[in-house]
Amino acid sequence: MSNELNGKTALVTGASRGIGKAIAIELANMGADVLINYNSSESLAKEVMEECQKIGVRSQIYQADTSVSGDVDKMFEKAESDFENIDILVNNAGVVNDRLLLRMTEEQWDQVINVDLKGPFLCTKRAVKTMLKKRWGRIINISSVVALGGNAGQSNYAAAKAGLSGLTKTAAQEFASRDITVNIVAPGFINTDITNSLPEKFRETMLDRVPMRRAGEPEEVANLVGFLCSENSSYITGQLFCIDGGLTLGG
Ligand code: NAP
Repeated sequence: MSNELNGKTALVTGASRGIGKAIAIELANMGADVLINYNSSESLAKEVMEECQKIGVRSQIYQADTSVSGDVDKMFEKAESDFENIDILVNNAGVVNDRLLLRMTEEQWDQVINVDLKGPFLCTKRAVKTMLKKRWGRIINISSVVALGGNAGQSNYAAAKAGLSGLTKTAAQEFASRDITVNIVAPGFINTDITNSLPEKFRETMLDRVPMRRAGEPEEVANLVGFLCSENSSYITGQLFCIDGGLTLGG
């Protein structure tokens, strides 16, 4: 364990599985106390909490559907009474609900926009209050490379993730003078439940487009998030970083 984030408290949304879990463990390894948000996977969230505690930091789980403002308010009230301040927020919780635009229902559109875009807005608004008082903060929004170029069948997801760019760049400007940085990490094709549930043929077609010819691992995304949470990234704000094995190079 390093001590780069000693004394800091981090809240990671959607940390019960996949990329969020890897981020929670990376931040614990950097010395931060880690608050693990989940929606439905309580037992998996507890396992992540126990893993963080074994590393030697304080950790707690918090259930909340991050697209629901009442849930977010309750989570922050409890988290702030348990841990006082939240110094680092990682807006990672996300869902996909793919269909070609002509067949996409209003419900599919709303679900993805609410979880992937409104959720980060609600959590940022709450978390930034204590960051402003402390004059220090790190907010990392987990987007996707589809925010840059769109993707057939994902108009809802691409719109939500592109919207996250607008939210990030605006928040970065509003909070920069208080040493609160807001950045985006945009993964390409990463080995998690989302991508493992895709049909094999689609996975193969996707991987053919990746110059590194493999999917990324959640831990590789977590390393970048860890850097952006650290003091070493102190002059970086409002930026988007792709982590995609070269996918967006278009070669
Ligand atoms: P995942 O394995 O499916 O995990 C999703 C996580 O989000 C789970 O912890 C889930 O919690 C949580 N979640 C979903 N809806 C939620 C809600 N309403 N409130 C709170 N938590 C909620 O996904 P992943 O692949 O790790 O993706 C994580 C992030 O990376 C997402 O924002 C995704 O868009 C982005 N991303 C992933 C890839 C990829 O290739 N995997 C690529 C680009 C971007 P429960 O289990 O408790 O429901």
